[in-house]
Amino acid sequence: MASRQIISGVHVIAMGNANGFLIEAPDGLTLIDAGFPGKEATVLAAIQALGRSPEDLRHLILTHAHPDHIGSAAAIVRATGARLYAHALDQSLVETGGPFRPMQAAPGTLRRVLCRVLFDPAARTVPIKVDQTISDGEILPIAGGIEVFHVPGHCAGQVALLWLPGRMLFAADVFMNMMGLGDPIGFESLETGRASQKRLAGLHFDAIGFGHGAVIQRDAMAKLKEATA
Ligand SMILES: [Zn+2]
Ligand SMILES: [Zn+2]
Repeated sequence: MASRQIISGVHVIAMGNANGFLIEAPDGLTLIDAGFPGKEATVLAAIQALGRSPEDLRHLILTHAHPDHIGSAAAIVRATGARLYAHALDQSLVETGGPFRPMQAAPGTLRRVLCRVLFDPAARTVPIKVDQTISDGEILPIAGGIEVFHVPGHCAGQVALLWLPGRMLFAADVFMNMMGLGDPIGFESLETGRASQKRLAGLHFDAIGFGHGAVIQRDAMAKLKEATA
């Protein structure tokens, strides 16, 4: 199964221990995040499973420039012609393909181990030009409206995205929902990351998707408030 529907119009794609999300709208398809390297075939299969063709993918929005979110971006853009979006603070990482900024592991043993296993700042991705930078407060006129929230801490150029028609928040790596809802594997700045977590917990939405781990399909606001209390 290439993808799974979460709510009407949104599908999650497993991109190798990282999630990509495909939004279906009358103006075409939008992909949020491009997974680890080598995942372009998975994305193309998910598009095909919806009865669409590669050129129906109009937009690829990167939540932040870590190898597990931008790894297949160049290949996906090449195959589909999608327009590529990222925050200005992470643009150069997308366009050079690394090396990446170092992170400190988040508190706790599990995250210390995962950070060492899953994040390698020396990793390299295929460079790809960003077509458009996105910034806090902007509502992208895509798929009926996608609001941008700049949420640094885990990564300086990280954004969360709120798909307004479906009230679904894409929280990137502000949180992680693997073995419980909590911190991501690491932070560039723990204090800034905590502030970003509080900010997202104050938003209004029904469903939430994360870069890693299970989606919460309903009552997501209450669950996120509980996790950040
Ligand atoms: Zn990350
Ligand atoms: Zn990640």
